[in-house]
Parts: sequence; structure tokens; C-alpha cells
Amino acid sequence: MTETTPSSPAFAALGLREEILRSIEESGYTTPTPIQAAAIPVVLSGRDVLGIAQTGTGKTASFTLPMIEKLASGRARARMPRSLILSPTRELAAQTAKNFETYGKYLKLSHVLLIGGVGMGDQEKQLEKGVDVLIATPGRMLDWFERGRILLGGINIMVIDEADRMLDMGFIPDVERIISLLPARQQTLLFSATMPKEVRSLADRFMHEPAVIEVARPATTSQNIDDVVVMTSPRDKVDALVKLIRSQDIDKAIIFSNRKKSVAELNRTLKRRKLNASDIHGDLDQAQRQATLDAFKRGDIDYLVATDVAARGLDISDMPVVINFDVPTHPDDYVHR
Ligand code: AMP
Repeated sequence: MTETTPSSPAFAALGLREEILRSIEESGYTTPTPIQAAAIPVVLSGRDVLGIAQTGTGKTASFTLPMIEKLASGRARARMPRSLILSPTRELAAQTAKNFETYGKYLKLSHVLLIGGVGMGDQEKQLEKGVDVLIATPGRMLDWFERGRILLGGINIMVIDEADRMLDMGFIPDVERIISLLPARQQTLLFSATMPKEVRSLADRFMHEPAVIEVARPATTSQNIDDVVVMTSPRDKVDALVKLIRSQDIDKAIIFSNRKKSVAELNRTLKRRKLNASDIHGDLDQAQRQATLDAFKRGDIDYLVATDVAARGLDISDMPVVINFDVPTHPDDYVHR
């Protein structure tokens, strides 16, 4: 009989320490995904990385794992974070923070989440103690900087996650401003599902000979997914939706609508029709959105009505049905959804 090794040899070969390998193993992952296998050694080598990969490819761990490895040695000073991750949405930032907790649990690393809708007192205390990782949305992070609450001179690694989404949301000027505030020669990792010219230009201006790592989309509309189109008129759309849910026995679904207002409205209508629905969109505060998401993940809510922004980058495993109540304005959003 062959002896079983304590940690996955494939992950172990990437240069991560035992404490990290143990947490990976406990997560149940045995093999690095292609982006992880390609990016982790490059990040550890100190080189900039331009990762063309979307949610679902394992891209989050492709930067959190080597960051944890690099941060494991050394200590943070008060108000001077050692690394920075910029996320376009609060939800994605919160998910990235969870990733740090999962993989960093055997190391004494600290992180702080600077996003809207979260009380500032705790964050203030954490910053004062010193944090290894700052995870933030761009506007929030600038806000803290401008109030003199964070010093950026200690940042050695910066991640710009979902850069194309940052662009869609108008955050590129904020991102550029943040980069201009950082020490000149920090390591930069930029991830984007697509490479529009504005993102390419950002990378050209601020990155130093990055390794470009591109991985295939994990699921395109032609693989793993069956598409069904329902023909209806605007007036009968809600009826058609309810009928679809009932006739197809859809017991769990995310339903996308394009605007905050229509999401809230549709949610109310579904509830009136006795469907166990709830909604997430940008007008709800962070605590409400997180509570709804958690309830959906637990199965306490069956139908989650959402805007793209609120649902961006959500990682909900076991999600058999996605309903586009409105056709997405952006073709790429169809695949993300
Ligand atoms: P991401 O692309 O970072 O949003 O990750 C997508 C999903 O893949 C998440 O549910 C991760 O927990 C999962 N995942 C990340 N790395 C691995 C791996 N090496 N093996 C299996 N699943 C993974």
C-alpha cells in the first residue's frame, strides 16, 4: 500500500508552507486549478501578474495563497498595512476576506475590510493594531486615506481584482489615484475576466513586465449549461416567471433584473405570489445584503432577486438555475450570471 502524503503534492510543489498546505487540505482541495498552478509561483517570485480569468476559475486563491506565504514572515506596523486588495463590490471584498481567513488560519495574519455599510469602530481598532492585508472597495479606501486613517507607505503587494468590472462601475480614476499614493515599486497583480483597452492601458502604465496568465472560462454558455428562452410580453412577464418556476419545479434560483428598482419590485411581487423570495441590490446596506446572501446559501430563502452589481463574483455552489428576468445590457454579464 502506498503511504498517503499529508498535503497535496501538487500544491506543495508550488512553494507554499506547511501551515497553508494544511488549510488547503482541510478545504478539500487536492489539485491547484490552472490559474493557481500558473500564478502562485510567479507571485512568489515577486513578479507582477496580469491574470485574465473570471470568477469560478479559482482566481481568488491564486493571489491569496501566495500573498499569505509572503506575508507570513514579517509584521505589520500601526496604520501601515503591508498589502492591499481592491475589489469592485462589497460582496466580492467580503468573499476575499473569507478566503484569507480560511487559508491563513494557521498563521497569525490580520486583515481589515474597508467597505461601505460596515461600522468603522472595529476597523479603526484593527488598523491601529496593524494589519497585514487591507481589503477594500476603491471609494471607501480613499475615504479612509483622506481622513488620515491609513498610511500607504508599507504596501508591498497590491491586487486589483475584476478590473473590467471596476471599469464598468467607473472606478478606474479612483484606482489610478490609489496607485499614485503607493510606494513606487510594489508588486502589482491585476485580474480581469476581459481585457478592454482601458484595463490594458492601466496595466501598461502601472505594471512592470507582468507575466500574462490567461485561463479558459470555466463554463461558457455552450458547456455545462442548458439555455432556455421563454417568449412573453412585458405585461405578462411576471406571470410567465411564476409559471416557469411552478411548472418546472424550480425550487432555488437567482433571478437577475437590470435595475435596483425593478429588483425590489419583482421581489415584492414574488412574495405576494407566495414565493419565498428576497432581494439584493445597491440600495440595501452591507449588513442586509450579507444576511440575505447567507440566508440564500443556507436555503432559508429560495429565490434571490439581484442586480448584476450586487451579485457580481458571488460564489454560490449548487446553483442549478439562473433566470434572466431582464436581458443583460452587457453581453459579458450573461456569462457571469
Ligand atoms: P474563484 O474563481 O476564486 O471565485 O473560485 C471559485 C470556486 O472554486 C470557489 O468555490 C473556490 O472555493 C473553489 N476552488 C478554489 N480553488 C480550488 C481548487 N484548487 N480545487 C477545487 N476548488 C477550488
